[in-house]
Amino acid sequence: MRFTELVEVYGKLEATTKRLEMRALLVGLIERLSIDELPEVLYLSQGLLRPEYEGIELGMADSLAAKSVALATGLPDPEVLAEARSSGDLGTTVERLLENRSSAGAGLTVAGVYQVLTKIARASGEGSQETKVQVLAELLHRCSPTEAKYAVRFVLGKLRLGVREMTILDALAVAFGGGTKEARAQIEAAFNVSSDLGLVAQALARSALEGLGEIHLTVGRPVRPMLAERSPDLADVLKRMEGRAALEYKYDGLRVQAHVPQDGPVKLFSRRLEDISAQFPELLVDLPKAIARRPAIVEGECVSIDPETDEIRPFQEISRRRGRKYDLERMQQEIPVCLFLFDLLLEGDRSQIDEPLPERRAHLAKLVRPTDRIRLAVQKVVENVDDAQAFFDQSIADGCEGVMAKSLDPGGTYHPGGRGFWWIKYKREYTQGLADSVDGVVVGAFHGKGRRGGKYGALLMAVYNPDQDRYESFCKVGSGFDDAALDALPKRLKPFEVDDRPEGVLTELTPDRWITPTLVLEVRGAELSLSPIHRAAVDLIRPGAGLALRFPRFTGRYREDKGPTDATTSQELVALYRSQVRQSSATTSAPE
Ligand code: AMP
Repeated sequence: MRFTELVEVYGKLEATTKRLEMRALLVGLIERLSIDELPEVLYLSQGLLRPEYEGIELGMADSLAAKSVALATGLPDPEVLAEARSSGDLGTTVERLLENRSSAGAGLTVAGVYQVLTKIARASGEGSQETKVQVLAELLHRCSPTEAKYAVRFVLGKLRLGVREMTILDALAVAFGGGTKEARAQIEAAFNVSSDLGLVAQALARSALEGLGEIHLTVGRPVRPMLAERSPDLADVLKRMEGRAALEYKYDGLRVQAHVPQDGPVKLFSRRLEDISAQFPELLVDLPKAIARRPAIVEGECVSIDPETDEIRPFQEISRRRGRKYDLERMQQEIPVCLFLFDLLLEGDRSQIDEPLPERRAHLAKLVRPTDRIRLAVQKVVENVDDAQAFFDQSIADGCEGVMAKSLDPGGTYHPGGRGFWWIKYKREYTQGLADSVDGVVVGAFHGKGRRGGKYGALLMAVYNPDQDRYESFCKVGSGFDDAALDALPKRLKPFEVDDRPEGVLTELTPDRWITPTLVLEVRGAELSLSPIHRAAVDLIRPGAGLALRFPRFTGRYREDKGPTDATTSQELVALYRSQVRQSSATTSAPE
């Protein structure tokens, strides 16, 4: 395909916010692509070069890309930068500048452009900045004005067509599966075990839905993690699990999916499927020692632990190791960690994900020879509320935040990317009579007043509604930010600020700045109430009404381990609201 055809579709995608229109445009695009082009175009359309988990950084700084634009247009750097500052987008600037020079475009192909972009991304080491500038300048030189606009936005990491994974999956289902529900589910399942849309699309293009049979669990390719529902009390947990459940400690740390090959380097993936191997060198050493039969994929929670007393340290400790690239030696000493394994996804060449939990756990126990740093999560099968409560109390006493109840039912297989009542979390906060915390997505910001003048004073927060693939507001949060957090806000929000309401954001409020849903932070509040303004779970409880969190406050915790679609869902908020209604009616009907 010619690059000009692709950017024509990008123009149309950019002009719509309607998911159905986007889907139709993507279907049209997919149908025109060859098998080889398909993965490349799907990655490109999401602003990527490879599946997200490979973590290929594209981001050229504005100043660097401006140098390329200067070279391609023959204008001095400062002039280009000044233009870009006034338009707010170097992409639009290069488009305009090239129009003046009546540059024609030279029949670039998508494959050719993809290669050039890969070269830019891969340039590293000494002299790499100059190489990037030069290679981009040569590309821009050959681009038509519109092609150049998208090429520049791409290298800046600002393509933002609003094309999300869910919409691509919908489009693939139409293009290769007749748009049926079953086809959509099968395609999503293949994506959930591979986390690679390009791979899924290529298999479909080769042999339609049958092609998905080629996609297996593979060491080195992360599986989308299974998620938990929540419940208001332990009696409810047991009732949902038909009176019998495996309870595990709910460790408050970082989720880690460890891929341990037969030989070669171990890879660790976070809950968001980022490659975090480099952050925990000690686990890379210990995992092959602890796991006899390889290859294997295991999952666990990594917490910081006191080596003298063996006590679990609070979450704040382990969070200091996240994202750290330097001083790793010192960090290993200061913040020793332990990975508590709770699941087994692959053993040898056998996938375990279709096995019920008791089988997976038994295999895991056989497979692992515990070390100081690799252990099994504490687990106990309980059959009554008293035992469950005793286990919960023990878990809190041992430094955990609650329990994870897991179904022993044959249906309780590992559901990649799925949230259901097979796993139910029950945390300490529920027992303190407070509403549970909510992991909300920032979708807007309000200017501060008085002491907060010149800064942001409050944030508009939303939950995620996966059924509609949209973000629905549930509160405006201003408390809980200390001075340092307030001072840091503008910088944190800046990359995500946009002028118009981002696609898929639902609210009746208009903040001073809209923010592209990206950042997740934890808020707590007094209670949930029905609201005419907030749109979370709208219509789910009462027609026209959404849910709002009253007296919200930021807990100080940014959930960097969560992406926007991992935030609390509207459906979870409904469950929280209902549990609250149940609890308060129980309290009011109780005798004094
Ligand atoms: P939350 O982040 O509050 O939605 O809780 C779910 C998270 O709890 C999982 O993603 C894991 O990171 C963590 N977790 C801690 N202990 C366990 C366990 N025993 N089983 C499963 N998940 C656990």
